[in-house]
Amino acid sequence: MHPLIAALPIALTGAAGLVAYGAAYPRAQLFGPTLCRTASPRQLAITFDDGPNPAVTPQLLDLLARYDARATFFLIGRYVRQSPELVREIAARGHAIGNHTETHANLFWCGPARLRAELGGCQEAIAVVLGAPPLLLRPPYGFRSPFLDAAARAAGIRSVVMWSLLPHDWYPQPAAPLIRRLQPVARRAQRAPQGAPPRSGGDILCLHDGDHRRPGGDRRHTLAALEYWLPRWRDLGLEFVTIPSIAGEGPR
Ligand SMILES: [Zn+2]
Repeated sequence: MHPLIAALPIALTGAAGLVAYGAAYPRAQLFGPTLCRTASPRQLAITFDDGPNPAVTPQLLDLLARYDARATFFLIGRYVRQSPELVREIAARGHAIGNHTETHANLFWCGPARLRAELGGCQEAIAVVLGAPPLLLRPPYGFRSPFLDAAARAAGIRSVVMWSLLPHDWYPQPAAPLIRRLQPVARRAQRAPQGAPPRSGGDILCLHDGDHRRPGGDRRHTLAALEYWLPRWRDLGLEFVTIPSIAGEGPR
């Protein structure tokens, strides 16, 4: 057998591996640039996916207000249409809003037409409520594809936002293990005292206030974990920032 033919399966496995890496690894830039860290280890960007959720988001907004913490909410278009008042409330409280697609589709499997519908549907749902479409996108499951960057830009999206910490809060669970999985935020902040050079940036934390499978998802564990950590993060001197404030995208 020709050595190149013998190597073909390995090369194909390698190519498939590279595509999988580019599609799913949060820090992979193969399919276009993404935002994965804040600019400084003193800055924490808290983000929430899969809302708005009338069963959880109002309590979450009150909790964040208690610690004067601004966050970024990546909303599902069909939930935005069901709860426009709640979307207005999120924005009125100073939080940023981003696109999390119309139906929570896995964008890796979407061709250009479906991509346009998923991104454009959510852009329009948010624009109807807030008067302008968002500039941020978080792809569901973190999955991207070679078509995504161009489709996002065509939809008016300027930043694709991933994360540095994903503590698996998307299923009902006791709060204690989630509190443990959030420990790296404090550990990293303690290792980066005031005035430290912003070498590695700070965390973009990905949590969930909704459930893409059904409205009204149970997120009591996420609320309880934040109730535990927000005062501790504040006492460590962490600054709570929104994604637009670190992406230079203005107030949206
Ligand atoms: Zn999601």
